[in-house]
Formats: sequence, structure tokens, C-alpha cells
Amino acid sequence: MKNKSKFFSVSFFPSEKCGVFGAFGDNMESARLVHTGLWTLQHRGQESSGIASSEGTTIRVVKDEGLVAHVYNEELLSLLSGNIAIGHNRYGTSGGAGKMHAQPVTGTKNLVALAHNGNLPSVTKIKSFLEKKGIDTTLMNDSEMMHSAIEYYMSEGLSLEESVKKSFPLFTGVFSLLLMTNNQIAALRDSKGIRPLSLAKLNGGYVFSSETCAFDALGATYIRDVMPGELVVIDSKGVHSYQIAKGDQKLDIFEFVYFSRPDSVLLGKSVNEVRKNLGRILAKENNIDGDIVIPVPDSAIPAAIGYSEQSKIPFDFGLIKNRYIHRTFIRPSQKLRERDVAMKLNPIPNLIKGKRVILIDDSIVRGTTSKKIVERILSAGAKEVHLLISSPAVLYPDFYGINTPNQDDLIASMMSIKEMTKYINVTSLHFLSYKGLLEAIGLPESKLSTSCFTGIYPVGIGERRKDIKRHPKVK
Ligand code: AMP
Repeated sequence: MKNKSKFFSVSFFPSEKCGVFGAFGDNMESARLVHTGLWTLQHRGQESSGIASSEGTTIRVVKDEGLVAHVYNEELLSLLSGNIAIGHNRYGTSGGAGKMHAQPVTGTKNLVALAHNGNLPSVTKIKSFLEKKGIDTTLMNDSEMMHSAIEYYMSEGLSLEESVKKSFPLFTGVFSLLLMTNNQIAALRDSKGIRPLSLAKLNGGYVFSSETCAFDALGATYIRDVMPGELVVIDSKGVHSYQIAKGDQKLDIFEFVYFSRPDSVLLGKSVNEVRKNLGRILAKENNIDGDIVIPVPDSAIPAAIGYSEQSKIPFDFGLIKNRYIHRTFIRPSQKLRERDVAMKLNPIPNLIKGKRVILIDDSIVRGTTSKKIVERILSAGAKEVHLLISSPAVLYPDFYGINTPNQDDLIASMMSIKEMTKYINVTSLHFLSYKGLLEAIGLPESKLSTSCFTGIYPVGIGERRKDIKRHPKVK
């Protein structure tokens, strides 16, 4: 879901990884299930949160800026009674924040609510469709345009299923969507299934989630993934599946590297196990003398455990994370991002002093986090700092729902390893090989979207293609 601002063209904003959760139940408590689901998916978006629900006659929505813990209270949740509910956690960007961007989108006619994880890199087609129908898109973001197209067909008297089928060709990009009317819930994935979305059974009903970890929190039983190109509709008669477009699975590889929680399962693979493998292979590829293996918490913890297991170098939590600070990655200025990193991660000098530290992180994007952390580890007395990254260098920007910036802001795209080593101020710097990444995941390359590492974009990026420079490091 992309930022909305009248001052900026929609297609020039980096977008968001988000979390979506939906419930279709046999009682009036669906919004409470969604609330728990969203709490479990908080890591996928911290900017705003919203829940829409229906008792059968009106779709009601509560949404606001902030974390799940801040947005809802008992009074609001009791307003959301109903057996159908969908929810959304939004991951903000530097372009703007606030309530106006929060989802689910409901529109003025209130026929359908929509929660979107993903991004449409090009909105040319949908924009011109809506404008031909006399709908003003000036202030609309991509998610609102998708909602508007479905709503247009529904207001012409078509069913939700028919409206989604008709709108589908206008959705030129990446989407894992949840939709609801007063008596149905639906889930839709783009034909490449770039962002995850799964279905589970809970008591007499069903739940959908971006990640399987939210099923565990509710005691729901995983049934299956919503397939690429599939629309799943659930109503009082049961579960109906429509294959709207031919599916060709290309799950975003970065879900394994960073986004998903380690206790989630993606395409049958435990994220935790994959990340441990990343660390093991990183150790096999780089034989470095060190005294201690330290993860950058939380996302690099499994990789650091794997590295330590393989290298036999002891693991410890040399950096302590303040769990109540979020969003360092998306702060609008470099200075703010740097200050946030210092507040967020504090080294333990007793563990570090005089040691050759092997510091493990999952990825380097701008280089802000690494540079600041290394500075702090050195001032805590480390003798050497070897920075090992459990993924390859991020050379290409993302257009599929992740907040990775322009190519010029990606440090690995602008600097050689030698230059980065000097800039980050480490003794040595090493990335996992691309081959090692695929080996750790254990899925065929053809099932994954690898664009941030290879520049191969399986879903067309339209007018954004001209912004991409082919990187000499990639053949
Ligand atoms: P940077 O400081 O820009 O190099 O960001 C790298 C750090 O941010 C790493 O510690 C990652 O764990 C984390 N990271 C990587 N990708 C993302 C993302 N899309 N959103 C938020 N954090 C990220």
C-alpha cells in the first residue's frame, strides 16, 4: 500500500510491507480475533492499524496511527462486533504518515472493505479506468484505487466475485488482499504470490493471515496458502475458490531474510530454520578468526546461532535491544535514524572488551544501522569487528511492498566492498553468496522473487524500470 499525497506523484514513493488478518466466525467476536492476529503481525507494520467488521448490515471501521496496543481499547472493540472482520497494520514511509493512510479502505458507499499488503508499481491502467468512469483519483493511493474499482462494479450490481474478476486486470502489481462485504470475506493474491497469505480453521470458522505465526497465537489450524492468482471467498455456505489468473509462485525472498517472524512457515519452510542455515552457510563461506559471535537483534539472532554452531565460536547477546523503539528504518532524516539506532541497541562492554567480534546482521540497506552499531561496539572496547551479513548485497530497489529506497540510497549499489568496509569502519565485511542464500532456503530459485539481489522483477514495474541501473556486480 502506497503513500497518498497530493504533492507527490503516487508512483514515486517507496511503499510498505504490511500485515493483514481476517476472520469469518460463527459468533460476533471476529474483530477480537483480528485484534489478536494484528498484534502478532505487529512486526510487519507499526505506523497505523485498523479493523473493519460487520454484523450483516453495515461495515464499521476503527483505524488510527500507532501500534495495535495504542489504537484499540475495550470500547472500540465492542463497537466492532460481528462475525466478519478484516484488519491491517501499515508500515509507513518517509513520505508521510498519519490516520489518512490507515486501512482497511471502506470508501463512501461502504459496500466493501479492503486491506492491502503489497504495492502497484504502476497505476496508469487503473487510474485511467477510474477516470473514464468519472471517479477522481487525484488523492487516491494504489490501495484506494483497487478498492474503488471493485466498488464501482459492485455498485453496478455485480457480486463481489464478479467485481474482483473484472477489476483483476487493472491491478498491475503486487497484492495480497483481504476484502469483506456484509456477508462474505475474501482473499486474493497476485498471480506471482509475491507477498504471503494463508488460510486456517478456527473453531467453527476461518481466519486469513499474512503469516502463519498469527494462527499459532489463536490456536488456529493451518489449512493452506491462498494460491497465486486465486480468489478465496468464504460465506455462510462455505469456502469457494476461483483461479482468476494462472499462478506462478514467486514469493519475495526477503520474507525469509528479514520480514517474516522466525516462528512463521513460508512455502513449507520454517523461517527460523532457514535463517539458522543462512548463518551456517555464512560460516562455511567465511572462515574468520573471532572470539565471540554477536547478532544484531532481533532479526539476525537465528543466523548468528547458526554461525556460532558451525564455526564453534561462542554466541552471546552483546547488543541489547530496547524493545519499545520502532521504525528506525523509516525515519525521515539520516540524523534521526542514527540517533534512533543508538537508543535502540546498546552494547555490553564486559562481553566485548578486547575481543575479536563477529557481528552478524541479516541485511545492509543504507548502511545506517551497521555504521552506528559498529561505532558503538568499537567504543565498548572491541579489538576487531568483522561484519558478516546473512544475505547478499541489496543492489536493487523494491517495488513490491517493501520500504527499500531508491537505488542510489542502497549502499551496496553505490560502493565496492572495500569502500563499504572503510565507510562502516569494520576490520572486514562479508556477504552471503546468492548461491548460499538459495541453498539455505532449500526451494527452487524459480519459486522466489529475487529482485533486490538480481534486478529480475517478476511482476512488471512499468514506468519505474527507467530508474533502474544494471549493476556491474550482477551478470
Ligand atoms: P540500513 O541501516 O538501512 O542498512 O538497514 C539495515 C537494517 O534494517 C538491518 O539491520 C535489517 O535488519 C533492517 N532492515 C532491512 N530491510 C528492512 C526493511 N525493508 N524495513 C525495515 N528494516 C529493514
